[in-house]
Amino acid sequence: MESIKQIYRIGHGPSSSHTMGPMRAAQMFLEKHPEAASFEVTLYGSLAATGKGHMTDEAILNVLRPVAPTTIHWEPKVFLPFHPNGMLFEAFDTEGKKLDSWTIYSIGGGTLANETYNEQTTNEVYKMHYIRDILKWCEDTGYSYWEYVEQCEGKEIWDYLAEVWEVMQEAVRRGLESEGILPGGLGIRRKASDYMIRARGYGSSIKSRGMVYAYALAVSEENACGGKIVTAPTCGSCGVMPAVLYHLKETREFRDSRILRALATAGLFGNVVRTNASVSGAEVGCQGEVGVACAMAAAAASQLFGGTAAQVEYAAEMGLEHHLGLTCDPVCGLVQIPCIERNAFAAARALDANTFSNFSDGRHRVSFDQVVEVMQQTGNDLPSLYKETSEGGLAKKYNVEHM
Ligand code: SF4
Repeated sequence: MESIKQIYRIGHGPSSSHTMGPMRAAQMFLEKHPEAASFEVTLYGSLAATGKGHMTDEAILNVLRPVAPTTIHWEPKVFLPFHPNGMLFEAFDTEGKKLDSWTIYSIGGGTLANETYNEQTTNEVYKMHYIRDILKWCEDTGYSYWEYVEQCEGKEIWDYLAEVWEVMQEAVRRGLESEGILPGGLGIRRKASDYMIRARGYGSSIKSRGMVYAYALAVSEENACGGKIVTAPTCGSCGVMPAVLYHLKETREFRDSRILRALATAGLFGNVVRTNASVSGAEVGCQGEVGVACAMAAAAASQLFGGTAAQVEYAAEMGLEHHLGLTCDPVCGLVQIPCIERNAFAAARALDANTFSNFSDGRHRVSFDQVVEVMQQTGNDLPSLYKETSEGGLAKKYNVEHM
């Protein structure tokens, strides 16, 4: 299992698989062929189906077009066998002769892979790939999840997580300050600052919940505007972790050092899903994005509240279990409806999962690893119209009735 840095990628939204991954792929192809006179890029499957709304073309053209003329072709009906998010890059010389071609896939969270290259397995940092093994190690040795992260990654991981935490907090603050309409044509107004103002007028418990919503909306709205965020584990689900952590810092005054340890533990849980299943909406639906974000945030909250290793695992398990089957059906291919509100609800649910788990002794029937396996199977069983193609669910209904 590779570094948790792959779960927490710092970059610009709105989509890790549809903007961050393709942009990096374009940069890699350009580095191989800086002499090319022109480029052609073909987008396949889910990447083509929702690429316009997710700004995939802009992400690629911003890299290639300053160097040479670039044409993008869209093939939403063609699904390549390796992964639904396929891309073909082709470079040509001045006579139109093909210099090279490269098929690569954006497999979720900004990671790239194909039949011969896989960023997910190239750098093995963690020997244990399952929470059951890590949990047993914690119970046998007395160490915590975050200490396992430190032992595998080295102390440098704290500098990286400090940067992650800073970018997350900046995204919350920027989102709370911003007003206006989100780009893309749906005419959706930013809501975060309104929610914050209204929440402040209520008594403690409703205010507390309202502020969690406001923080999640703030970051997800920033993402929808192409702002700087951290994948956790993806752009579409980037509001959940910051909302929970920012809220706990504000209300419980947890020190940053403890927040970083919570980020480490959450990253470990996200990493296990990424390794053994998927965090790609195009592959398993939104259960792999917002569901996993909820599991990570639940684990982080449980640790901050002093949960045992078993309670942390239980909180994460619930965070994911109760998102099983969640489809990905973004309206007009934009990361807005249902994505933005869904982040707010998942943040609240993560806090509930923490409370539920911490009331227990941590013993429960279904393990986190089992839920991850079920999530992958459920994702395999979901038809492609519910996996980031915007052909089913809300995307279809809203288009038919309102567009
Ligand atoms: S519905 Fe979920 S998986 Fe799909 S784009 Fe929105 S956040 Fe991502």
